[in-house]
Amino acid sequence: MNLNLIDFGFFLLCLCSATMVWIVSNRLWGWWIYNVIAALVGFFVPIALSGLALRINDLVLGHRPPRPTCEHGNCKWNDYHVLKFVGDDVEFICKCGKKYVRSGERFFKLHDNGQREPYKVLGPKNQWEDDQ
Ligand SMILES: [Zn+2]
Repeated sequence: MNLNLIDFGFFLLCLCSATMVWIVSNRLWGWWIYNVIAALVGFFVPIALSGLALRINDLVLGHRPPRPTCEHGNCKWNDYHVLKFVGDDVEFICKCGKKYVRSGERFFKLHDNGQREPYKVLGPKNQWEDDQ
């Protein structure tokens, strides 16, 4: 349902873009063939731009957030705070107050006694998966 709404909104955006380009073209040239071509270009420009934005997003994030959602499901990747760096490992605390350690491809729960409990690991599809 949500996706359909977004798609519909995006379709309207394309129509608006096409209409605006049509109006500009009509003022510049006033020939209907140019107007149709311009409107078609205007229609596809938002599609091309959104495709480009998705590509850039994929390149920057690599299809996944840099940290998994926390154990309680409350905190997303940007809700963690860095506590300290230990060699190549990074200790985090999430908003619930739970501590975690990122070590290479693995994300551990960190207990108060310093013990690490496996939590998530980067799977073959470059996504966070349960580490059991
Ligand atoms: Zn949390």
